[in-house]
Amino acid sequence: MIETAVILAAGMGSRIRERTGYNPKGFLQLDEIPLIEHSISKMLTAGIKKIFIGTGFMKEAYEKLAYKYEQIQCVYNPDFETTGSMYTLYRLKDVINEDFLLVESDLIYERSALSILMNHGYKDVILSSKLTDSGDEVLIEIDEKHHLVNMSKAKADLMNISGELVGITKLSYSTFQKICSHIELLPNFHKMDYENGIVAIADQIPFYVHQENDLVWCEVDDEGHWTRAVQFIYPLIKARENVLKSINRTILLNPGPATTTDTVKYAQVVEDICPREEEFGRVMEFISNELTEFVGNLEEYTTVLFGGSGTAAVESILSSVIDDQAILIINNGAYGKRMCKIADVYGLEFFEYASPVDEAIDLSSLEQFINNVPTKLSHLAVVHCETSTGLLNNLEAVGELCQKYKLSMIVDAMSSFAAIPIDMNKMNISYLAASSNKNLQGMAGVSFVIADKAQLEKTKQYKQRNVYLNLFTQYHYFKLTNQMQFTPPVQTLYALKQAILETKWEGIQSRYKRYTKSWETLIEGVSRLGLKHLVDKNSHSRIITSIIEPSQPTYDFNEMHDYFYRNGFTIYPGKVNTLQTFRIANIGDISYLDIERFIRLLERYLEWLREGNKHETI
Ligand SMILES: *Cc1c(COP(=O)(O)O)cnc(C)c1O
Repeated sequence: MIETAVILAAGMGSRIRERTGYNPKGFLQLDEIPLIEHSISKMLTAGIKKIFIGTGFMKEAYEKLAYKYEQIQCVYNPDFETTGSMYTLYRLKDVINEDFLLVESDLIYERSALSILMNHGYKDVILSSKLTDSGDEVLIEIDEKHHLVNMSKAKADLMNISGELVGITKLSYSTFQKICSHIELLPNFHKMDYENGIVAIADQIPFYVHQENDLVWCEVDDEGHWTRAVQFIYPLIKARENVLKSINRTILLNPGPATTTDTVKYAQVVEDICPREEEFGRVMEFISNELTEFVGNLEEYTTVLFGGSGTAAVESILSSVIDDQAILIINNGAYGKRMCKIADVYGLEFFEYASPVDEAIDLSSLEQFINNVPTKLSHLAVVHCETSTGLLNNLEAVGELCQKYKLSMIVDAMSSFAAIPIDMNKMNISYLAASSNKNLQGMAGVSFVIADKAQLEKTKQYKQRNVYLNLFTQYHYFKLTNQMQFTPPVQTLYALKQAILETKWEGIQSRYKRYTKSWETLIEGVSRLGLKHLVDKNSHSRIITSIIEPSQPTYDFNEMHDYFYRNGFTIYPGKVNTLQTFRIANIGDISYLDIERFIRLLERYLEWLREGNKHETI
């Protein structure tokens, strides 16, 4: 059992001196508690009984802490200005007499980081995470046994990179002694950092590198790190450590609302706040900016938030941004059709370009259609992922046509946003609609429009057809006040903020990779069971799949739905009029393992159906 920890805290922290003032880095505060005390309290909770702090620069601050915590003992490195962290550690050589955790003083981390190492079977373990690209990171190279080969800040020093040094390491007493007696003979001994000390004997002693990709942590070396820590890392850690009781997990295979994390669910439980308070305005401003930055830059684009389901955003665009010219709407599924209906109800002059529901758009025929429209077109609207079939429309290609014919492109990206990478600028998108509850993995109730600001500003003079959904007034009001015009869904927005942090943490590319793996598992599974799906792999979104229903005459969708529902899975009916289909979405906080379970259940169901054992319930 590990009961000792060492915190290396002698450094000068010169790259963040302005912010730290007369204190060492470890005294930067989060929620009015110094980083070092966050760390100490995690250690004590984990069962650490003795904490040595290797001090140097401004040692008094740490010595004061030793009065507050009986577990702390400071060991001073008087040469801190000219020595590296290895030397600070070396000075503890005669003080420590057991295995210990070695922790850097400027780390913010989840408590699980400690328990992973404390419970680890190996005696010398280096904790490694996925790459954070935060700048100044120490990269790790390992061999096929997960043993350390090298660590360095310079990529060129390493043959391959397996991960990044977190700065929390378990060292056994004997290894520590060996490091000390090995390095004291080296010429550059005083200048070494502790990771160089470890690398120096890595060919003699196996250090196990434990890779933990989902560990939330960061180091604070400069202002950029600090901003990231305050806005992103610390809130994520707090949310994760705040989950009091995990909530029964159901697997939603409908195309949103999707399965959410417990941290998103709990983010809704907050003190009551009047949404007109500045504090809440800042929450919405953060959400608006972060959503924009998923697909564009803040100079050219802006996100306008509404309380409402996703359709509100689509309706807002269509009823707000078209003046007296005409719009072309591509209809290749239920959501394209819905846009036609909205255009019709608002009395817009629109031209419907109908395209097959299960095939890519024929671009030359679309171009011909554009050329043949009898009046002047100003806009073109298209759905990105047609959720009714899973068909993915080619936005780049449609965007190029829009550029050629000087049309503003409107995109319903409801079921692609935050999974399939989108670049508004590159794709030539003027207005994009999406919502909180699909790939963002938030709660239902917020819909939003991401708009090209210059174009949106021009709509100011247009004759107004709407009130609640007017895009320009909502945008303008928010710009002046950080407020929505009408009551926002307060708790849903807190959940959305958390969902955004988690989306950023995972990364949109990685999220799409995870979804893709689930989708491949699905396609492979249903094909093996003899079922066919509608849309060809090449134009498939890998988000939602329309599957042709089993042909047994006794098959009944509702019965199958209820069977899955009893087993914790929710499936969805089809939405193609001419074909008998049901739909499976693979979005949300689920993985291919859930899809494997789904396939096993489906297999059992199809067997039951084939055997015709209708009298026996399944
Ligand atoms: C989900 C979805 C919508 C919006 O549906 P709501 O029920 O209003 O949330 C719009 N377009 C597409 C393509 C969708 O997938």
